[in-house]
Amino acid sequence: MTHPGNPRYRSAPFPVTSCDCKDCRAACQNSPGWFMPGGVRAVANHLNLDVPTLFAKYLAVSVTAMPDGTQRHGVMPHKLRDGKKPGSVWTLEEVAVPGRCVFFDRGQCTIYPVRPYECARVMHDKQREGVRLRHHIIKSWTPAELAPYAELTGKRLFGSPPRKSRR
Ligand code: SF4
Repeated sequence: MTHPGNPRYRSAPFPVTSCDCKDCRAACQNSPGWFMPGGVRAVANHLNLDVPTLFAKYLAVSVTAMPDGTQRHGVMPHKLRDGKKPGSVWTLEEVAVPGRCVFFDRGQCTIYPVRPYECARVMHDKQREGVRLRHHIIKSWTPAELAPYAELTGKRLFGSPPRKSRR
């Protein structure tokens, strides 16, 4: 199955995968993928919600440790876990504990046409590619893109430096 949505997705260096293996479903039950910043708006439109309401009900700020020891934040679907509410910021320790994606219901992704960029592209048997994919997404979560979520959560968030424009 191909992504029916935005043409911007089709020009990205990571092709949409048709993979729907048991490892995909395991990811849905343990570790949901990250959105690109614009992908959050697509889900809000899909569910007819504004972004702050979507975030408060269904999303979370996730974190990844970078090779240089720093941390970077980005947005993922909320993971259903005791003690965590949607609309919160997760630590590395919390992210490492498995939890079912809030959008996974009876074996199906309930937002499939607008599922996160990472969910649509990850290949579970290619770990190195998976790391490259996550780092590609992280580059898009700049301080400016994270600013609305810092405001919503009241937390300091760490974004990637903005890309330098080419002359
Ligand atoms: S958004 Fe959909 S594809 Fe991604 S982890 Fe959740 S249920 Fe799975």
